[in-house]
Amino acid sequence: MSTREMTSLSREPATDFLFDLDGGRACLDFANTLSSTSGEHLHGYADLVAFAEQSELITQAEADWLHAASALNSAEVEAVMARAYRLRSAVYAVFSAIAADQPVAQAELEALNRELGLALQHACVEWQPLGDGYHYGWNGRELDMPLWGVARSAAEVLVSHEDRLRVRECGGDACHWLFIDTSRNRSRQWCSMASCGNRQKAKRHYQRSRLRMRT
Ligand SMILES: [Zn+2]
Repeated sequence: MSTREMTSLSREPATDFLFDLDGGRACLDFANTLSSTSGEHLHGYADLVAFAEQSELITQAEADWLHAASALNSAEVEAVMARAYRLRSAVYAVFSAIAADQPVAQAELEALNRELGLALQHACVEWQPLGDGYHYGWNGRELDMPLWGVARSAAEVLVSHEDRLRVRECGGDACHWLFIDTSRNRSRQWCSMASCGNRQKAKRHYQRSRLRMRT
């Protein structure tokens, strides 16, 4: 078991955690559900709902409702999954470009904006008497509800100068993990020191020792 998996398991509360949420923002975690190392983590609608619930984009009650409602409308579920995969590839393309300091492809921004437009139709602010004030909420329940918070999260990272400058893509071999670099000197290069960071260190050590052997 990797350190990342152990970290996830050690978290509160009691829900079964299925996803690594180490990206630092829901939209980046969503992009990371397709991993070049561990493969596809969104196998179907139930996974999409579980991701949104674990990321606190929807409540447990909303997740329960979505699981039940999805059983009654397979055609709409299929359409939502197609949109989820398109949104995920757009989020990855946009933030991968930003991490590399490259221009964002217009088609990818448009794909994100389509979902943002649909999401914002449901956006509201709510007073939470037991919380610390007003919070974003959603009006109504629809099967595409898990996508709303992802689109809003992506928009929030894009318009936040500070967040945008901290988006990174892991520098490990063939690892395309996206994350927010919260290190003090903004120098984090890898998704986690336990996996990619150590692999890179070992590789450099190996290359240095080979160089020394040649000289
Ligand atoms: Zn990595």
